[in-house]
Amino acid sequence: MSGGRGPAVADIAVVGSGIAATAAVIRLLRQGHDPLWIAPELVAEDIPGEHLSPAARPMLEEIGASGLLAKACHRAEQSVFSAWGSDRLAERSGIVHLEGPGTVLDRSVFERDLRALAIASGAWPVAARLTDVSREDGYWDIEVDDGARIGRSAARFILDGSGRAAVVAGVQAPDHAARFRSDRLVALCAFLPQEQGAAVVPTRATLLETVPDGWWYACLLADGRLVLNFYTDPDLLPREATRTLEPFRALLADTSYVARWVEEAGFRQEAPPNLVSAGTTWLAPAAGEGWAAIGDAAAAFDPLSSHGMTTALWSGIRGAEAAAGSLGGDSAALTVYAEKVAQGVQQFLDSRAAVYGSERRFDGTAFWKRRLAPEIVPEKIHA
Ligand SMILES: Cc1cc2nc3c(=O)[nH]c(=O)nc-3n(C[C@H](O)[C@H](O)[C@H](O)COP(=O)(O)OP(=O)(O)OC[C@H]3O[C@@H](n4cnc5c(N)ncnc54)[C@H](O)[C@@H]3O)c2cc1C
Repeated sequence: MSGGRGPAVADIAVVGSGIAATAAVIRLLRQGHDPLWIAPELVAEDIPGEHLSPAARPMLEEIGASGLLAKACHRAEQSVFSAWGSDRLAERSGIVHLEGPGTVLDRSVFERDLRALAIASGAWPVAARLTDVSREDGYWDIEVDDGARIGRSAARFILDGSGRAAVVAGVQAPDHAARFRSDRLVALCAFLPQEQGAAVVPTRATLLETVPDGWWYACLLADGRLVLNFYTDPDLLPREATRTLEPFRALLADTSYVARWVEEAGFRQEAPPNLVSAGTTWLAPAAGEGWAAIGDAAAAFDPLSSHGMTTALWSGIRGAEAAAGSLGGDSAALTVYAEKVAQGVQQFLDSRAAVYGSERRFDGTAFWKRRLAPEIVPEKIHA
């Protein structure tokens, strides 16, 4: 396959090019393993999700990647202002956190740099997508497709870092794992440049604002563009929301603070927003004999927590250690890992309930009613 050497039979295969898979690959290389890394080329477009929690720093240090944050295209987080549960804006300063401030990333640059670090550490990404996988006699048979050719490899263990697609977990379910969902949150995401010659210096604070059908997030990138996301449920989206500019503009006009900020600083919307899935889903268990899910494949959270990348780093590193431990004869390694993922899910569900529960002005609307009594439903994975 293009771009890689790909050993015929690997101890551990890692699937995905995201933060979880790349962190896992770096961790494995540092432990002396030579993983088979099935890693499609990164897309060149903007990736939503730029706020890196300060809790990620120790994990970046563990894999020798903390230096990646020093580039000028990333910046330190400053204050967060939120109109959440009240008409008034309340401030939380990132600078006074015990862990220090978080980082506002240029997400595409960060992911490219992490991939380059993995390659510099000895990784050989196979630039292809996993198309089929099955397990027999303790070995995974893995089929990959780079768009032109199909190749086959085998591995004793698979780490699934394929994000919400959870391509390996889809094969494991329904016999060995189940996926659950507790909301269907989606995001309309836009990157807005400032008008040329605009006189206003935009604020570097992050802004959150609730509305009857969801909530808004606005954050200035180091390159001067504004990330503007509207979070809602799919059935509450206006028609044509991703086809024309108008529906997003109309939604924005219903805010008190975000619209004023966008207008006063002269940010302009040039294209309709992208629609992405942002719901809360998880696997239980997140690991079993010969496999473990990492990152969003294991547990994907409503981005309110701004911890998705941190969880991806944590589970990539710890999932890699569990995989190596299990192959080395540690029979508890995978169970311990899966239990920690399950604990993280429970902690997230508790804190999500507290945050959404602190907004009671819109109790009568579908979006907020669903968050007051969220259902947990089993879900089929379409791998
Ligand atoms: C709108 C939005 C805003 C967010 N904001 C934040 C934020 O501010 N801060 C934060 O920390 N988190 C945020 N998140 C969450 C964060 O982006 C994710 O938790 C994180 O990207 C998970 O990383 P991952 O590596 O598990 O998965 P992904 O980043 O989804 O990567 C999955 C990888 O798998 C690959 N893949 C898929 N299928 C296959 C296949 N068949 N074969 C091979 N490879 C495959 C993909 O190409 C991709 O490279 C946000 C998420 C959304 C949707």
